[in-house]
Amino acid sequence: MAWLWALLLAGQAPAPPPPPRPLLLVPGAVFDGTDPVLHRGWRVLVRGERIEAVGPAVDAPADTEVVELGPDTTLIPGLIEGHGHLFLHPYDEAKWDDQVLHEPLALRTARAVVQAQRTLAAGFTTERDLGTEGAGYADVGLRQAIAQGIVPGPRLLVATRAIVAAGAYGPKGFEPGVEVPQGAEEASGVDGIVRAVRAQIAAGADLIKLYADYRWRGGEPSRPTFSLAELRAAVEAAHDAGRPVAVHASTDEGIARAVAAGADTIEHGYGATPATLQKMKAAGTVLCPTLAAADASARYAGWNGRDPAPASVEASRTGFAAARRAGVTLCMGGDVGVFPHGDNAREMELMAAAGMPAAQVLLAATAGNARAFGLADRGEVRAGLLADLVVVRGDPTADVAAVRDVALVIKGGQRIPN
Ligand SMILES: [Zn+2]
Repeated sequence: MAWLWALLLAGQAPAPPPPPRPLLLVPGAVFDGTDPVLHRGWRVLVRGERIEAVGPAVDAPADTEVVELGPDTTLIPGLIEGHGHLFLHPYDEAKWDDQVLHEPLALRTARAVVQAQRTLAAGFTTERDLGTEGAGYADVGLRQAIAQGIVPGPRLLVATRAIVAAGAYGPKGFEPGVEVPQGAEEASGVDGIVRAVRAQIAAGADLIKLYADYRWRGGEPSRPTFSLAELRAAVEAAHDAGRPVAVHASTDEGIARAVAAGADTIEHGYGATPATLQKMKAAGTVLCPTLAAADASARYAGWNGRDPAPASVEASRTGFAAARRAGVTLCMGGDVGVFPHGDNAREMELMAAAGMPAAQVLLAATAGNARAFGLADRGEVRAGLLADLVVVRGDPTADVAAVRDVALVIKGGQRIPN
């Protein structure tokens, strides 16, 4: 009988839904991500998932829906979070060790779904997620669920488990004979690290995250973990597969090795000497300074946020200033997850507080991150690109905190219900 029903249903198939009407967005001004100024009186025409036209005089077809956004609003490209962990939540809610060791995968995944929704609602339409920290390959499934429209969230670039040198990462400090689950995949040797890179790519990694240094024992300073030969082999294997490589490194030696190995981005990077920063600039390596992670961690340890700041926060600020002076390209990525998802703008505020003009911070968080991550289809308000757009109240080129006052988020041409 099934064939009969199929025939009957085929005969009654409803006409496909009409294509969505084009949208003409009329904000007070447009920040298009190509230059650091506001364009007053510009309009943006969206058709389907793409931007069709932008400028002062845009011809809209007769069936266009006009969306008046108000004279005080600014339309900007969808923001791009450069360094997040959707499978972590703030360490003052639960210590990192407890999240890795005691929280069931389903709990972590359920929380990640909500955190992805908050991220998108805050105007972040793309996020580079740099490791699930013990939640396996759950980021691959979350990326698929978002892409299929099952749950709302930013477009994800995921690193899956991340790769650490055997013995270097955590949780640590247990009876040495006991095998403790780790926050990333352990690897050793050129063959071992290449095997880990390929396995993660096969499992769905969009990029590879390596740890070039870490604290071998709690309380001691970070020291290099992987050798230059190991890092080189890992980067080569990832690049052969078309995957960029992000490297956690905060020591000068770890950063220098990662740059020499061909890393695409350095995460944290606080300890780079001027000579190493020059090598980064020459190699085109991008620095993701994660000021907000240093800030949040210090607050969890009791800092009240006032100057003088603790040494860790000072190190993040001086590292950021030195990188700017050296002309190193800066990514916008805060290590969100250490602090609450949806509060991603915190990194932008700290970049501005550390001396970067607001318009430059906005460029870093949009077109800059798109370039740094090889995303040619987004990051600017330009005809032909994905219609990932945010409308905020106020002028974020005057005060970057205006990005917190979100009036509308559009992802792929679809308005996101708030
Ligand atoms: Zn991180």
